[in-house]
Amino acid sequence: MSLDSAKRKLKLLGIFAHPHDCIHCLGTCGHHVRDGDAVTIAILTHGGSTHNEKLWREWMKSPEQREQAVMDETHEQYVADKKKEVETACGYFGVTDVRMLGYPDRPIRRTDEMVEEVADLIYAARPDILITQLPARLDSDRFFAEPEDHSTCARIVTEACTLVHHPKPGGARGYHRVARKYYIAPSMKYDEVSFFVDISDQYEKRIKAEMAFVSQGHTPEYARRRVERSYGNSGWYARTNLAEKFLTDDIVTVDRLPLTDHDLTLAKDTVYDEIERLGWTEQEETGTGADS
Ligand SMILES: [Zn+2]
Repeated sequence: MSLDSAKRKLKLLGIFAHPHDCIHCLGTCGHHVRDGDAVTIAILTHGGSTHNEKLWREWMKSPEQREQAVMDETHEQYVADKKKEVETACGYFGVTDVRMLGYPDRPIRRTDEMVEEVADLIYAARPDILITQLPARLDSDRFFAEPEDHSTCARIVTEACTLVHHPKPGGARGYHRVARKYYIAPSMKYDEVSFFVDISDQYEKRIKAEMAFVSQGHTPEYARRRVERSYGNSGWYARTNLAEKFLTDDIVTVDRLPLTDHDLTLAKDTVYDEIERLGWTEQEETGTGADS
């Protein structure tokens, strides 16, 4: 059951620090595209200093052993690869509106120009739902105060929202209030998130999306394991196969108590039913049993 009982067509805008970051909500975005919602993904940086694993590997070698072709790859070539990769990944979920804002990464250095451009983007897109990164750096249960790209991106988005939420007399940009912000929460523990989105039907697409990021060393087997262990782990706690995790930015207010189809399913499922529902039958070896 959707928490949005109005069943309106929605506009979603995701703003993330690096090209790969959007992957943590792409299964969810795929569901919104399926339902006729408009989804735009924007990447704040070009990602040119992030996850260049090939270059890192060469630098670890002695100078005479380094592969010259990798050492000679230009910043522009690497950035072009990143753009292609994120477009490919988004494309698997029907998300075709992908914007690269192209700011330098590692570190992201906040500028007024950057905040204004993000504010213009938010106003132009006028999203009902804005998805972005967690405002605090989080690694398990440890919070870090120092800025890093993901939390910096969240702060820039928050600042841009403040601009768009508060019209100024004589200002060129109009007013738009985002109805709700959601934060992707891949590193948060299952009992710290606001809710899971069941993306079991997106299993193969999620693996293909991870495979798209060849520039950061993703092999097909790595992609499969990553999806199974990360989103499969969330799915374990959500009592489904695969799930994406989200935090909301504020308390959700409803006019009746929410009860989802998933709640009703769990209420009647015996363990035998659950094993069958998840496709974890004896015939399947690794079975997530999802997607087709
Ligand atoms: Zn990132």
